Amino acid sequence: MPEPESIRRPLVIGNWKMHKTGAEGAALAAAIAGGLRSNRASIAVAPPFTAIAPVAAAIRGSAVRLAAQDVFHEREGAFTGAISAPMLAAAGCSIVLVGHSERRHVFGDRDEDVRRKALAVLGAGMRPVVCVGETAEQRDAGEAEGVVRGQLGAAVDGLSEAQLASLAVAYEPVWAIGTGRTATPDTAETMHRVIRTNLAAIAGPEAAERTPLLYGGSVKGDNASAILAGANVDGLLVGGASLRADSFLDICHAAG
Ligand code: PEP
Repeated sequence: MPEPESIRRPLVIGNWKMHKTGAEGAALAAAIAGGLRSNRASIAVAPPFTAIAPVAAAIRGSAVRLAAQDVFHEREGAFTGAISAPMLAAAGCSIVLVGHSERRHVFGDRDEDVRRKALAVLGAGMRPVVCVGETAEQRDAGEAEGVVRGQLGAAVDGLSEAQLASLAVAYEPVWAIGTGRTATPDTAETMHRVIRTNLAAIAGPEAAERTPLLYGGSVKGDNASAILAGANVDGLLVGGASLRADSFLDICHAAG
């Protein structure tokens, strides 16, 4: 089981999605590692599976940590195309995203899949980042808080106190991902407060206080600081702006 973060050290994760070959990923990771100033924040990159090994080599000895974008919940077996949590841990990952909205909406991941993935990640000694977030239609219908509470509750159902203490949660409104439309700092903080209050009810106030809550959705160098100013915003999950070292480093330095 990973150690709980020391009281909410900022965490910034670059989610490269389906971008970068191994060679391209290694070059980007080396540029990020080389450009990172000493930083209070914890920084991670999540390359596609085929770039994990070259990226691991490129960041060896640096402060940059390795994350994965997804996982399958079984340990091993006849699951063509799948990658397990022990495989990711052996490849050097310490963080795994579960329930990203693209996994939910493009690949059909259900709340129950997210829960099983989170459990598998914890079982392999890594930190799951449970991604939650409402669609534009759900927000317009006044359902944003209920949707997020439901996704979170389903993802953590049955987890032990120790397991809950090792989670991170990313609030990523679907309408903000890759759209250039960022949640306002007020909206992000309001939703993060809802998530922390909900976590406190499920896991107890101490675990909830320790859980890093990340915001994701069109974060850039010029809006990162304002979003991070929220008392319950502990870090960022960055897609598009993590694909270039300069724009990702701007965000990392805003967090540090
Ligand atoms: C993401 O994919 O998690 C994300 C937040 O993407 P973007 O920053 O491009 O909106």
